[in-house]
Amino acid sequence: MLAAVPFRVGFGEDAHRLEAGLPLVLGGVPVPDAELGAVAHSDGDAVLHAVADALLSGLALGDIGQYFPDTAAEWKGMDSRVILAKALELVRGRGYAPVNVAVVVTLDKPKLGPLRAEIAASVARLLNLPPSEVGLSFKTSEGLAPRHVQTRVTVLLGSIEG
Ligand SMILES: [Zn+2]
Repeated sequence: MLAAVPFRVGFGEDAHRLEAGLPLVLGGVPVPDAELGAVAHSDGDAVLHAVADALLSGLALGDIGQYFPDTAAEWKGMDSRVILAKALELVRGRGYAPVNVAVVVTLDKPKLGPLRAEIAASVARLLNLPPSEVGLSFKTSEGLAPRHVQTRVTVLLGSIEG
């Protein structure tokens, strides 16, 4: 049997359908010029939902749906930064903290490149990391899913107990 290792890896995924007339928020950053926004119970931030699930999965703590059921009226329209803060609190409670995070966002329009620094800074701030520890890859579906945003995230968690 392996001795306890001081690192854990987590993986998260999230997707939302997009419709006209709704806001699009990614990584806590409102996306200007988005013609389509996320259909969601919360604010529909697919980046923060996937990051939160990645944090939880690294310690086998379940998923955000268990802590924030989409049937609960109290979470309607909620700021996803609250969801991420809860996941981070649970991870810290187990004696771990994120080391670095890698995020892949698949979205056809608009191009997210101009928002790269802002989204990285926002996610980094929420995770208490320097922006250099937040990797962002922006992909398109090549027209296969134009009314869809999808995010995949891996995170490395390190023991904070030495
Ligand atoms: Zn979501």
